[in-house]
Amino acid sequence: MIRIGNGIDVHRFDTEAGDKAIVLGGISIPHTHALLAHSDGDVLTHALMDALLGALGLGDIGQHFPDTVEKYRDVSSMSLLDEVMNKVNDSGWQLGNADITVVAQAPRLSRHIESIKNSLAAGMKVAADLVSVKATTSEGLGFTGRGEGIAVLATVLLTKP
Ligand code: MG
Repeated sequence: MIRIGNGIDVHRFDTEAGDKAIVLGGISIPHTHALLAHSDGDVLTHALMDALLGALGLGDIGQHFPDTVEKYRDVSSMSLLDEVMNKVNDSGWQLGNADITVVAQAPRLSRHIESIKNSLAAGMKVAADLVSVKATTSEGLGFTGRGEGIAVLATVLLTKP
């Protein structure tokens, strides 16, 4: 059996924050701005979790980890990913593969891609070759192109023997 899921997430840059790094897939990356969020703002991991929950037919991360709940303030999204993967594995599913695309004008992500991929694979307890992470700009167009925020699209396939 197979199931597919997709997820998308967008976070805007905090133009006032003193914090000068973003977190993608659990990896901290220096940048001119942080991303605004109730959690650690790991927009990539949020999209991935939404894809996993979508494949399970279990709604979205807003339902499972509401941003109105104080315990999720500044929470590490990788710890939430661990909870989501438990839902996947507890119901007998395994990750077939995940393919993730980050849309960002800046920062340039090419030299961080391998670390992000390895971090996500370790977080999901799967082989690194099951996880694909790609990055693209939007050629200066739209909110990502103007550097106002980052968008991430994630697709996952789950398999059950
Ligand atoms: Mg989010």
